[in-house]
Amino acid sequence: MANTFTFYNTLDRKVEEFKPREEGKVSMYTCGPTVYHYAHIGNIRTYIMQDVLIKSLQYAGYDVKRVMNITDVGHLASDADTGEDKMLAGAKREHKTVMEIAKFYTDAFFNDFDAVGNKRPDVIEPATNCIPEFIHMVDVLIKKGFAYVAGGNVYFDTSKLKDYYVFSSDVEKEQLQVGVRDDVEEDTNKKNKTDFVLWFTKSKFEDQALKWDSPWGVGYPGWHIECSCISMKHLGEYIDIHCGGVDNIFPHHTNEIAQSESYLGHEWCRYWFHSNHLNDQSGKMSKSKGAFLTVSLLKEKGYDPLVYRFFCLQSHYRKPLVFSFEALDSVVGAFNKLVKRISELKEGGVVDEAVKAEFEGKFRDAISNDLNTAMAITVLYDVLKADTNDATKIALIESFDKVLSLDLLAHAKALSNKEDKPDVDPELEAYVLDAIERRATAKKAKDFATADAIRAELLEKGVEIKDTREGVKWQLI
Ligand code: AMP
Ligand code: ZN
Repeated sequence: MANTFTFYNTLDRKVEEFKPREEGKVSMYTCGPTVYHYAHIGNIRTYIMQDVLIKSLQYAGYDVKRVMNITDVGHLASDADTGEDKMLAGAKREHKTVMEIAKFYTDAFFNDFDAVGNKRPDVIEPATNCIPEFIHMVDVLIKKGFAYVAGGNVYFDTSKLKDYYVFSSDVEKEQLQVGVRDDVEEDTNKKNKTDFVLWFTKSKFEDQALKWDSPWGVGYPGWHIECSCISMKHLGEYIDIHCGGVDNIFPHHTNEIAQSESYLGHEWCRYWFHSNHLNDQSGKMSKSKGAFLTVSLLKEKGYDPLVYRFFCLQSHYRKPLVFSFEALDSVVGAFNKLVKRISELKEGGVVDEAVKAEFEGKFRDAISNDLNTAMAITVLYDVLKADTNDATKIALIESFDKVLSLDLLAHAKALSNKEDKPDVDPELEAYVLDAIERRATAKKAKDFATADAIRAELLEKGVEIKDTREGVKWQLI
């Protein structure tokens, strides 16, 4: 039996107890990145908080299956179906093909995604893999009377729904209606301002690179349709939790619900999890602004990507978070102190199971209470102060790190190793630590040939590595 778990459900606008359709099991869909540029640290905040949600559900006893799309077609410059396809704009910017851009930025995304301790989704599906599924759904929506063809494009007819603005209060609905009315670029094919494109064959941007044949002519899918289809392809007619950033609520998730429930004829997803934005001093961090920070850039500046994760965990996912290097530096200090304290714990001895269960309960209560990560970290500090033996403390840190994913014991081990090897050349040490990290990434991606090659490379330099329960240890031979 899984433990009680609550979080804020945007659909009901309140914190609710989570009840999946199938006892103990969770099917989850998360909107993936649009791979026309690097993911900035704001995007990565969203993926960190989703990772914490999954691991917290697992900690509470649930079995989670997660699907994520990769948007490699159809996401236009404005979420409201206007402007150029973002992928095409990316290809023009870099004088490459759309597929080259997609491959490059998908790889770059997962590099940063992995580096901050996230577990990869069980299924990752690029939109361009699923064209037949999109065409089928659009066809059914037309046959059921929810969609129409106009000016060569297929549109979803939002006037066919009793309640289109499913996420919004009455006041928000009015504001959204005004916003939609004021939208400067008007598409005269639309019967209603809120209608959205399911399939494009006509666009101002005739040089769209990727196009497919369809019953409505050669064209390409709209952005929203991909998430409905990819979710149904892998998770069936019902999902328990759908995740995204708050900017996805309208229009993306609103449109996903409109088309999915019209297609299925029943409710599709019961719980909607949205995390708030990362802002910089000038406002919301956004890819279209051009200059932005990535996890790889932080790494180049000497920051451990897991310290960025720690930074995100200190604040609540529903609050906007402001990034600054001063704030990050103060988290670096806190992280180093934490690691130092952990490195002073002595291995060996017998775990006090009663104390362990008590603290695990407190930790579970914190994360199960609308993902109170700051409180969960307080419980970790309480463990370090607790009147119990080091073996119990180490066991608890290992247990909490299943959710926090800060590699705390490995960092502590690395620190002790460093203190044990005062004479090691710092350049060699930096090289070894980098090689250990590269090997961990290769192993995560199941690229064992590269992992073995890195081990051999280290041996050649006189360094032996060992995988232990506390992480990778190394020594000079
Ligand atoms: P995109 O690649 O633009 O489709 O965005 C990927 C994810 O990042 C989406 O779930 C967005 O909601 C989320 N996102 C976009 N901007 C931010 C931001 N500044 N802070 C946090 N999440 C964001
Ligand atoms: Zn989506």
